[in-house]
Amino acid sequence: MKWAVLGGGLAGVTVARLLHERGHEVRVFEREGRIGGLCRSRTEEGFTFDTGGSHVIFSRDQEVLAFMHRVLGGNREIRERKTKIFYKGRYVKYPFENGLADLPKEDLFFCINEFVRTLIAAGKGELSPPANFREWMYQTFGKGIAESYLIPYNEKIWKTPPERMSCHWVEGRIPRPPVEDVIRSAIGIETEGYTHQAVFSYPRDGGIEALVHAVAEPVREFIHTGSPVTSVARKGDGFLIRAGKGEVQADGVVSTIPLPSLLPCLKDVPAGVMEACRGLCSTSLLSVFVGIEGEVPPYSWVYVPSPEIGLFNRVSFPSNYSPSVAPEGHSSILAEITCTREDPLFSAPDGEIISHVLGGLSGMGILRDPGRVVHTAVERSPYAYVVYDLDYPGKIERVRRFCEGRGIHLVGRFSRFEYLNMDGVIRNAMDFAEKRG
Ligand SMILES: Cc1cc2nc3c(=O)[nH]c(=O)nc-3n(C[C@H](O)[C@H](O)[C@H](O)COP(=O)(O)OP(=O)(O)OC[C@H]3O[C@@H](n4cnc5c(N)ncnc54)[C@H](O)[C@@H]3O)c2cc1C
Repeated sequence: MKWAVLGGGLAGVTVARLLHERGHEVRVFEREGRIGGLCRSRTEEGFTFDTGGSHVIFSRDQEVLAFMHRVLGGNREIRERKTKIFYKGRYVKYPFENGLADLPKEDLFFCINEFVRTLIAAGKGELSPPANFREWMYQTFGKGIAESYLIPYNEKIWKTPPERMSCHWVEGRIPRPPVEDVIRSAIGIETEGYTHQAVFSYPRDGGIEALVHAVAEPVREFIHTGSPVTSVARKGDGFLIRAGKGEVQADGVVSTIPLPSLLPCLKDVPAGVMEACRGLCSTSLLSVFVGIEGEVPPYSWVYVPSPEIGLFNRVSFPSNYSPSVAPEGHSSILAEITCTREDPLFSAPDGEIISHVLGGLSGMGILRDPGRVVHTAVERSPYAYVVYDLDYPGKIERVRRFCEGRGIHLVGRFSRFEYLNMDGVIRNAMDFAEKRG
């Protein structure tokens, strides 16, 4: 079969490679001048930064993990995760419930006491199933951990009140702690949470985009960059796709582009489907890059729940993943700020965003001397995180059913409109290709 693949992010290039390996003909159409999507990286003044926020490679899915490692070959650094949460001026071990001993004593008591009370209530059957994400946080971790960390952090990243969010997606994403580990961590015995990410890898050269290029290698000649898809129409038994200045016929279409970008390419979309699609919620991302002289703290990344410290929810240190992403004697910092596309912050001048971040980094003790800064830049990603609001299931079901009815297959993060990491996107592509034989 001849397939048209819309979008050249990780999902698009993976699906193209896997179909090609199975003997299908493929054409990939990518709007931007280069492939990668959220996994793009840029190198300037010797610093390489991931433009869609800091990315690292990990997975519970051994087949997918082996695929990522295989394609990268020798271009891979392996690191132990050293992640912290910046809480009341302290660097608390991540996940929070594994770092309780790092808290001030009163906060530790609040967290452990409420955790135990919640367990007792659950044991007596006094808790009804959580109706939303806020209730889930209270019922899983207790009031202490929920109010000290989880609620402020989640409000900051999702830009949506947690009582307006569903909780169907959290299992496996927000680590559910074994009781013994919480007690151990409270009394100061080291424990690890979220262990499938405790060791991660990262390309030695080229940032995370190197992974996309490694996947794309066998199908490079079939990828058309600078080719925004503007129309997908049925023609006979197949499709006619208009992308950039050209047209192509295909037997099948796989879309990996965001649903809100796909629907305008289709004819006669019912008003109800359009409305459901417009109602799908997501956040955008500002990635703020800072290159400095000298060293950064020895952490992988730090979560920043408090709004007082800064607008950013996470600060990472890419030069701790690979020595080749910063010039010798230099280090790098990447701050991530989420916002809605409509928020004036998304289009605020770079200078304002950068000085806000530098102020926050100074407050965290990471960068007290602004004279050390040798490089700064900002990147904007309009589609960064899917937000699962309470009406999500009805809306997504309606849009998916419509696309499937048109014979268009959906693969990838904003095409499925699901919170999929790189491994989830590759799994999606593998399952899709497998079914095509
Ligand atoms: C801040 C942040 C940190 C993350 N960290 C990690 C991590 O550490 N580990 C991990 O595994 N995952 C991480 N992820 C998730 C990861 O980025 C995604 O799972 C993955 O990049 C999604 O790939 P995709 O191809 O589905 O989508 P995208 O990367 O969004 O690709 C879609 C592509 O479609 C193109 N496109 C859009 N419209 C059109 C059009 N009309 N015509 C043609 N092309 C079009 C876009 O330009 C883009 O290239 C992170 C995500 C974010 C936001």
